[in-house]
Amino acid sequence: MSQPTNCPICGGPLNPTDVRAYDHLVTGDGPFGVRECTACRYGVTDPQLSNAELGPYYASDYYAGYYEHGGPRSRNPLYRLRAAFRKRSGERRNRQRPFDVEGIPPGRFLDVGCGGGELLRSFAARGWEPYGIDPSEQAVETAAGRGAKVHCGTLADQPWEEGSFQLIGFNHSLEHIVDPIDALRSARDLLAPGGLLAIAAPNWTCWQRSRFGNRWSSLDMPRHQQHFSPQALRRTAETLELELSSVGTTSAAGAATYSIHYMLAGHYTPGWKLWLSYAIAIPVLPFVFLGDRFGGGDCCFAVMRRPAA
Ligand SMILES: [Zn+2]
Repeated sequence: MSQPTNCPICGGPLNPTDVRAYDHLVTGDGPFGVRECTACRYGVTDPQLSNAELGPYYASDYYAGYYEHGGPRSRNPLYRLRAAFRKRSGERRNRQRPFDVEGIPPGRFLDVGCGGGELLRSFAARGWEPYGIDPSEQAVETAAGRGAKVHCGTLADQPWEEGSFQLIGFNHSLEHIVDPIDALRSARDLLAPGGLLAIAAPNWTCWQRSRFGNRWSSLDMPRHQQHFSPQALRRTAETLELELSSVGTTSAAGAATYSIHYMLAGHYTPGWKLWLSYAIAIPVLPFVFLGDRFGGGDCCFAVMRRPAA
């Protein structure tokens, strides 16, 4: 456990913010703060935790179910409806920016933090050869069962040669990584000349964070150790000496529902409080999407290119 002092992207000073957020999902621990580089609009969770210290914050059936193998099957029609909604919005997200690769000749795609391999499956359906990395054995087993070649571990111990991939993705995984620049440098080395790096992460500078405050679900403390923004992603491309192809924001369908749930229930509470939160969220979501449209979405993305040799 340590206090972050300098921005990992530009090296500038980190300043305190008013974030005092609890782990709403697994342990209830906290409060956790965020220190921000005002030059990059980049945030770092305070205190920074090591991988060993972070382990217990992933120890939940809910977390494993939602992120790694699509959740438990149920005969309850409400649960089936929710599963169908999640599947559909997941499929849509897997084809939206920065993963809308139509027009790019398919090659080898590596998904870093691939979970159960949903994004890899989407890429395989579009003609790409799917590769993944994930530290969770359960996730790796699921992704491998879906036809991907998956390494159980991290970029620090990955088995592939430099220049192996035409596209490398971090789909809501980079914010979990303790040393993001180190991971991105490893990813850059794995890119073939002219290859692309696609990053999607929560947008630290979005209006939803100002509105929901410490209960903005995408803070997801302390699992999110890093907090990106479009400005921070631009600066990241400079630091990595990659060409920035595109940068911007998108909207995540369900995230505002969980912010509303945390406002209502304080922490993740399966059962009637969760279903009441859905009922409240449904009429509110159109206004959230409108806000995202005009005020910037709750996710940010960037595509960066390794210069051709
Ligand atoms: Zn900075």
